This record gives sequence, C-alpha cells and structure tokens, in this order.
Amino acid sequence: MSTPNAPYDLVVIGGGSGGVASARRAASYGAKVALIESSRLGGTCVIRGCVPKKLMMYAAQFGQTLREGLQPGWQVAQAEFSMAQWQEAKGKEIDRLEGIYARMLENSGVETIRGHGVIKSTTEVQVGDRVLNTQRILIASGAAPNRSAFSGLELAATSNELLDLSTLPKRVGVIGAGYIALEFACILRGLGSEVSVFYRGDLPLRGFDESIRDRLVTAMKLQGIQLFPDTDFKSLGQQGALFELQTAAGVHTFDFVLNATGRSPNTQGLGLENIGLRTGPAGEIEVNKYSHTGIKGVYAVGDVTNRVNLTPVAIAEGRALAENEFNGKNLSVDHSSVPTATFTSPPIGSVGLTEEQAAKRAPTRVYETEFTPMKTKFSGGEQKTYMKLLIDDATDRVVGIHMLGEDSPEMIQLLGVLYTMGATKADFDRTIAVHPSSAEEWVLLRELTRKVG
Ligand code: NDP
Repeated sequence: MSTPNAPYDLVVIGGGSGGVASARRAASYGAKVALIESSRLGGTCVIRGCVPKKLMMYAAQFGQTLREGLQPGWQVAQAEFSMAQWQEAKGKEIDRLEGIYARMLENSGVETIRGHGVIKSTTEVQVGDRVLNTQRILIASGAAPNRSAFSGLELAATSNELLDLSTLPKRVGVIGAGYIALEFACILRGLGSEVSVFYRGDLPLRGFDESIRDRLVTAMKLQGIQLFPDTDFKSLGQQGALFELQTAAGVHTFDFVLNATGRSPNTQGLGLENIGLRTGPAGEIEVNKYSHTGIKGVYAVGDVTNRVNLTPVAIAEGRALAENEFNGKNLSVDHSSVPTATFTSPPIGSVGLTEEQAAKRAPTRVYETEFTPMKTKFSGGEQKTYMKLLIDDATDRVVGIHMLGEDSPEMIQLLGVLYTMGATKADFDRTIAVHPSSAEEWVLLRELTRKVG
C-alpha cells in the first residue's frame, strides 16, 4: 500500500481510545501505521477518566453500603478507608492496563512513537527531530479540562488531580453540574467527604430528561450533598491550605475544590495552521460524518471533534475511518442513538430523546414507574428507582428510555440494543418478566402516565 515517498499509510496523533482503535484496525488490513503519544498510552479514559473514576466509584459504593446499606443481620465493628492504599492499588491497575495497550499496539504491528506530534504539511508530521512522511494523518488528540470560567479557578483541581489524591479531603466544593462534577460529588460523598456542589443553572445535568434531573437532586440531598443552584460565581482564592469560593451569595471555605466546568479540544501546538485547518466555535476540529476534515488526507476522531464525547463513540469513529480507508467500506457512526451512563449515586442510564424533545417532535406516550427496590427497602434505605419509557404514539416505537437507579448502566446497554432495533411498546408488553428483579418493571409498564406533544 505504501509508496516510496510515503513510508506510512497512516500517522495517528494521540494514543487514547479513538487513536489506538483506528491505528490497530488500519494495521489489521496491512497498513503501515505510526501512532504518536506525548503522555501515557490509553488516553483520558484509561489513565485519568472512565477507568480510575469507576475504580474510585467501587470504593465509594462499598463505603456507602457499610454506612447505610447493610442487610439485616450484619454487624460491622469498624471500617476505615485509606485513600493512600487505594491510590497505590489504582496506580498498579492503570500501569497494568497501559501495558496491555502498549502490547496490543505492538502485536498489531503499529509503531508507537513517544513525543509531541506537529503537523508540518498534509503529508508530514514531526516528532522530536524525526519527520514522518505519510499518506494520511489522523488527529485523535482528545480534550482537556477548562480552567478559566472565572477569576482564580485555575487554583482548583480538575478531575486529573482528584484521581491522584492520596488523602481524602474533608470539605469539598464542586464547581459545575455536568457528568464529571456530579459523578465525583457522589463518589467523594460515598468515601466520606462533606460535599457542596455549585452550579449556575436551576437543575444539574443540562440536556438530560427533566424527570431524571429532578430526582437526582432529591437523591443527592438524601446522601447529605449540599446543592447550590443558580450560583453567580465571583472568584476563587486561596489562604494557606484553604480555598475560598466567593459567590454573589457569600464566601464558602473548602479543603479541596474541584473545577468541573467542561472540557475543550486539544488542538494547541498541533501545527493546524501549517495546513490551513481552522477550528470551530468550541475549538473543535470540524469533520463530516466520515471524520474527514475537508483537507485531503487529514482526519479527526474523538473528543477533539466535540461530537459525542464518549470513549465508545471515539472507538467507533476511529474504526469506521480505518474500515473506510483500508477495507473499502463506507461506514459512519450514528450519533443519535448512543446509550450513556452517568455514574452518579444512584447512576443514570439514558438512550434516545428526552421527554421534552419527544414532545416537540410528535405526540408521545409516557410510561413511568418509581419504587423502592427490594434490597434497599429490606436494609432500611429510602433511595427510589425511577424508570421512564417514551413511545411515539403513531408508530408505537420506543423513542426514549431513561432510568435513575441501581444497575441502570448495565440495563441501558441492553435497552440500547432494543432502541437501535426499533422496538415497540408491544414488544416490551409481550416479554415475560424476570422475577424478582428491578429490570422486570420495564416489561410491566401497563398504565399510561401521560401523553405529551
Ligand atoms: P459537561 O459539559 O458535562 O459539564 C460542564 C459543567 O460546567 C456544566 O454544569 C456547565 O454548566 C458548567 N459550566 C461550563 N462553563 C461554566 C462557566 N463559565 N461558569 C460556571 N459553570 C460552567 O462537562 P464535563 O467536564 O462534566 O464532562 C465533559 C464530557 O466528558 C461530557 O460531555 C461527557 O461527554 C464526558 N464524560 C462522560 C462521562 C460518562 O459517560 N459517564 C463521565 C465523564 C465525562 P451549564 O450546564 O450551565 O452550561
């Protein structure tokens, strides 16, 4: 496939989920591929995102169960959490996973090059003093936390630093109410910190179904998390080891502040100007549905394109690109039917339209249920589970599924298959329940709650 002037068929900039997936798939078709990574292999997801976050969530859930969820009959004399020991174990696990990534690349025949890649022309990428000649360039450089929403915010930690903590902070202030803010607020509370969340809107998780947003507020309050909606942020300052958050309503003091005000695409220093590639309004690399930038031979996938910023989406985009370029396919990723989970406590699972979106689109039947799961009830807990099914009235097709409750990330993966297949309410109705389970409620939603649209 390679030509004498173009020793590489593909040079990938970024060794995260999207870049690695694309590089390996391309190499599996015989392409000569180099992948450049300036930090650790695995990217945000493996090194400083999804994976260590979920490990921390397990620790938090265990603490929460010990404090509030013990089943009748159990007595636990004394339990203690050591963040330092957790950190050591987490470090080893991430090292192990990074090693797997390195081996997978090597075994696929991808050449991994450590360093910062700079695009010099549409066929040349520089790393250190090497210039790689290539037929194609894939930018998969990801995104990084925003640090400047208001004065002094750069003093706060981001999720990167939080995941590396060796001591558990006592009083924590969280700025923002997106995925990262709320997941870590629940995790830190589960581990034992006092947590306050500040956000500028009236409800957290903008863009999610309102029934979920409302109930998440109730659930977080039940755990003792303090919520400060409609916050007018002024500044963040530091006095010795303490942080002072100034809002229009007053000053709040914390031992640790998490800045979770969103993330921006990593495009600085990539040499985009050398090929006349301009970025979009959010700093993203704009691409078409095939991840083409508009400049011949230059492509981009994953968070740097700011489409749907999730690991499995980046992987799907990266693989589709490799299939199209090296296996004669014509694949694109459907960004409209992506199931997602938010690892709050309780977690959220969603796929398809929100009730608000469905109502705007067409007449929609809403089926919902809310109950205290058997396990929670028996241990004396109060946390409820909530489920909502949105049905297009004309076709009977499921257009949205939303859940807040234990196991919702596991359920939404399979519900996502039904959604993608175009399941109808009648399909749910004729399915026999699995009893006793929470999931059975999905097929027992007989009574219409309301009609909208
Ligand atoms: P989000 O975009 O989800 O949330 C950003 C938050 O910061 C919002 O509450 C937003 O408020 C607030 N904010 C933004 N700018 C300002 C400002 N100037 N002043 C005050 N508040 C501000 O970003 P995250 O960083 O939480 O997550 C980034 C992405 O990572 C997500 O979009 C998601 O795709 C991905 N992710 C997915 C996870 C999962 O699937 N479980 C987990 C973690 C991350 P407002 O709503 O008012 O704009």
